[in-house]
Amino acid sequence: SSYNDKDFSFRVNGGTGRVPVGVGRKRMRIVVTGGAGFVGSHLVDKLIKRGDDVIVIDNFFTGRKENVKHHFGNPRFELIRHDVVEPILLEVDQIYHLACPASPVHYKYNPVKTIKTNVMGTLNMLGLAKRIGAKFLLTSTSEVYGDPLEHPQKETYWGHVNPIGVRSCYDEGKRTAETLTMDYHRGANVEVRIARIFNTYGPRMCLDDGRVVSNFVAQAIRKQPMTVYGDGKQTRSFQFVSDLVDGLVALMEGEHIGPFNLGNPGEFTMLELAGVVKEVIDPSATIEFKANTADDPHKRKPDISKAKELLNWEPKISLQEGLPLMVNDFRNRILNEDEGKGN
Ligand code: NAD
Ligand code: UDP
Ligand code: UDP
Repeated sequence: SSYNDKDFSFRVNGGTGRVPVGVGRKRMRIVVTGGAGFVGSHLVDKLIKRGDDVIVIDNFFTGRKENVKHHFGNPRFELIRHDVVEPILLEVDQIYHLACPASPVHYKYNPVKTIKTNVMGTLNMLGLAKRIGAKFLLTSTSEVYGDPLEHPQKETYWGHVNPIGVRSCYDEGKRTAETLTMDYHRGANVEVRIARIFNTYGPRMCLDDGRVVSNFVAQAIRKQPMTVYGDGKQTRSFQFVSDLVDGLVALMEGEHIGPFNLGNPGEFTMLELAGVVKEVIDPSATIEFKANTADDPHKRKPDISKAKELLNWEPKISLQEGLPLMVNDFRNRILNEDEGKGN
């Protein structure tokens, strides 16, 4: 990139200041809500590395200070303990809005809070974007497609979602967040972006968040059987976190609103996933079948032609390459846990 870290810029007019730094690129101030979480902390790493100022807003429901502690002491990094359900005043150029529990175990824990986070939290961040003229990116989800009747899913598909089920707080919450985003765009001219993220894995996932990749990897490391829910023939498509973060930044910096599917089209049954974990982590790993959860989507796979064409983005890291990249982080945290240090 043409950005030179040694250049300094003075900002004018808060979020609307456009002061060039180096050749062709100004230093920006960027908010990442949910920036102490799994995806958010990797995004923060990328933004800090490329030379921007980053403010993280997080209430630490599922996020951890440990995920961003390597930035403590860096004057270009700021961490605010704040719940996005409450209004906040800031002056920034861009808002990456990620705050929301993402694993089914966490978002079902307090479903009403999940809806408030998605609706009131997104409303507040859009109100902020409107007031200061900031660009706003929403991290929506493949769950807006529900238990899809179209396969693979294109962005044009409207979805097949149960409005009264145990997943609805998340699915419908995100659908409403998308609606709000488009209404602020149409009604208040806010510059917006919408990403529909498919299952993502990598270092810093919560150890016991119940998601399938974190479960299988932790189970394999702890020498426990991998718990396959149902018959294990349901499918998901797993993307490594660095691919997602590249896609989010490409979307924010690009010219297109979206929505864009951001996911890896490599589709696996849960039994196949268990096979890959066994192959790359522990050849002696075993599996155990458990009852499945309600409303579990039978299959999911992104059609990413739109992101390929308009964002020039596609994932680079296969499941076989990505899984080993999270093992050290998981091993270390499990070891610390065993030694009673917590994680
Ligand atoms: P995560 O749970 O690790 O991160 C979410 C972060 O938001 C946490 O740090 C949490 O403390 C914070 N948060 C939650 N509620 C908040 C509130 N009310 N106020 C302030 N902070 C709050 O999850 P993640 O996997 O990093 O997901 C990040 C975003 O990406 C979420 O919006 C999620 O819906 C979306 N997404 C993730 C995936 C995936 O597979 N990881 C898939 C689809 C969509
Ligand atoms: N908001 C905020 N920070 C701001 C501007 C607005 O948190 O800098 C919140 C505000 O409190 C409101 C929401 O965003 O709850 C929507 O704001 P908007 O101005 O669009 O609507 P209004 O306040 O007129 O309802
Ligand atoms: N799953 C599983 N074993 C586990 C956790 C999940 O077989 O220990 C299955 C789950 O039933 C679902 C799939 O893995 O079919 C993906 O679940 P996850 O919670 O990771 O994500 P989501 O359902 O939100 O896609």
